[in-house]
Amino acid sequence: MKTCDFCGRQEADDAKTLTWSTAVENGRTRTYCDTCSREHLRAMEGKLDSEYW
Ligand SMILES: [Zn+2]
Repeated sequence: MKTCDFCGRQEADDAKTLTWSTAVENGRTRTYCDTCSREHLRAMEGKLDSEYW
């Protein structure tokens, strides 16, 4: 079971979380689903912290 730290989506099937990504922010590990990962990458390109999405 993984839970997206951004949208709260839950996925029990590990095979379906292969496209999910994790990132360490402020010492905490965050998990993002595939959809939010794309948004996250876009935000990272803009050098924005997730707090400011
Ligand atoms: Zn998500």
